[in-house]
Amino acid sequence: MPERKANRGYLSSTLGCRCPRCREGKLFQHSISVSFKKNMEMNKDCPVCGQPTELEVGFYYGTSYVSYALSIGLSVASLVAWWVIIGLSTSDNRFFFWLGFNAVLLIILQPWLMRLSRSIWISWFVKYDPDWKEHKPVDVSERMNADQANNW
Ligand SMILES: [Zn+2]
Repeated sequence: MPERKANRGYLSSTLGCRCPRCREGKLFQHSISVSFKKNMEMNKDCPVCGQPTELEVGFYYGTSYVSYALSIGLSVASLVAWWVIIGLSTSDNRFFFWLGFNAVLLIILQPWLMRLSRSIWISWFVKYDPDWKEHKPVDVSERMNADQANNW
């Protein structure tokens, strides 16, 4: 019997921006980049199992909510870390230094946050299939509209 278990779990495949169906193929064409266009260029289909990465028109519209939640979570984490390491007080400006630090942190992490948001988003709609070699990916062609592509 062939070994079917993926060597990645849900968390490592999502964090690594891998296809949620086979957990092997990369979702994005390039490695992380400061160029917005290059950073967000996705493979049309998973290069390993053929799973389409865009399931319908405007599929990734909802990732802004994921990105928002991630940013809030990171900000809370950085505030707690700041509190523990540097401390907070009403008698000096340490809180405002944290605000500046957090803004810079979020800007620096933005390319990664946007990719991670898409990876999390598609992982909620495409289930892992250990037998992906035997099954075809769901046909989404009727949900796509070439004229509306990239309008989002
Ligand atoms: Zn795949």
